[in-house]
Amino acid sequence: MDKIAQLYDLYLSSKRVSTDTRTIEKGDLFFALKGPSFDGNQYAEKALLSGAKAVVVDDPKVVVDERYFLVADVLVALQQLANHHRKQLDIPVIGLTGSNGKTTTKELLVRALSGKYVVQATYGNLNNHIGVPLTLLSLKPGTSMAIIEMGASKQGDIDELCRIALPTHGLITNIGRAHLEGMGGTEGVLKTKTELFQYLLETGGQVFINSSQKIFTNMIRRFDQPVLFPGPSDFCQVTFEGANPHVTFSLPPDQTIYVSNLIGHYNFDNIAAALCVAQYFEVSLKEAAMTIAAYVPENMRSQVIVKRSNIILLDAYNANPSSMEAALRAFDKLDKRKHKMVILGDMYELGEYSKAEHEKVGELVNQMRLDKICFTGKDTQYALSKAPKALYFPDPFSLRNWLRDSNLEDYQILIKGSRGMKLEGLLTFV
Ligand code: ATP
Ligand code: MG
Repeated sequence: MDKIAQLYDLYLSSKRVSTDTRTIEKGDLFFALKGPSFDGNQYAEKALLSGAKAVVVDDPKVVVDERYFLVADVLVALQQLANHHRKQLDIPVIGLTGSNGKTTTKELLVRALSGKYVVQATYGNLNNHIGVPLTLLSLKPGTSMAIIEMGASKQGDIDELCRIALPTHGLITNIGRAHLEGMGGTEGVLKTKTELFQYLLETGGQVFINSSQKIFTNMIRRFDQPVLFPGPSDFCQVTFEGANPHVTFSLPPDQTIYVSNLIGHYNFDNIAAALCVAQYFEVSLKEAAMTIAAYVPENMRSQVIVKRSNIILLDAYNANPSSMEAALRAFDKLDKRKHKMVILGDMYELGEYSKAEHEKVGELVNQMRLDKICFTGKDTQYALSKAPKALYFPDPFSLRNWLRDSNLEDYQILIKGSRGMKLEGLLTFV
């Protein structure tokens, strides 16, 4: 029996897979992964003491008894095990990638498909070379469809995830300006994200393509039967009702209007993608639309929060040039029934592109009808150079004090910045 087959037996007789001794449960199979500042091998004993059934390690020095399963490389073993498990499942596996909107689209898709299928999907944002294997290993018997979010920070990442997850279907939400540093500019982003389509081209899988993105025109021609969204008959439309920032959409033939809990016209693409895939899998569009409309975003992804007379659009989960532009343009389209203000923080991981991309943000906000503009973070200084009316705060801490003293009333406020800026901390002070 080879090592992976042995490990698979161990996996099948374990409760769950765990990589963290702090959350371990009795009967778990612990994988001693390494990180930049820790070596999981050092936690193997603790994992066993906390109830793990066995531990997978790659340091022979920590092995004490037969509960230690020694492999050459724990991460590779985790990925191979996940791939082995995936091969046992004869179900559609939808790979989902793109620069922006992956998690939102995934959450909408889960809801849209769950009326008809037993759907399991990536938990939260576990979309990398560790998260994807963990998601695959969490797939239970009886699951009839899996949705796997795939993230990338450099070229080759998506191809690697495809070789592990073996998707049968694939959807790229969009190609934007994210992770420019690691991927080598927009061309690199296109190449990386379309690794999913390349894989499906090789394996004869089904693709769902965002036809509103011209960048995909050549790709579309290469597939026999690509399914295009927004949809064969543009089955949804987006309208903004006055000051209501929520995306509304309608379905033919009766044009029933559905009001979603999502804001920003960019979320229309996410909704359209979910409806399109649901239609392909023969789910009733009406039911899919109802569940999609009921979805309330969490985790600071375009959340609407009302505080006194202020409406805050909290989009502090992350930011990159394309999602920043999308959020600003959507904010600009809202009716100006209140004062308008943006609080924008640094966009990370842009490397040599940072100056130019922050300057573009400055130019854009400078053209918008805004009563107040606040920038915070080191690189937003570049934005400031193009928007001289803006207020600048070196860090969110100094901005807090200003917000507290300003006592804002009757404002619509967009808050957006990269995860590391933690701009949600400002909410208390608005
Ligand atoms: P991550 O790379 O962190 O996994 P993601 O691709 O999963 O991100 P979401 O978590 O769904 O994306 O959304 C994050 C933010 O991206 C949202 O709060 C919103 O600002 C923006 N966003 C979502 N959908 C789109 C879209 N279709 N186009 C542009 N920006 C979007
Ligand atoms: Mg995500």
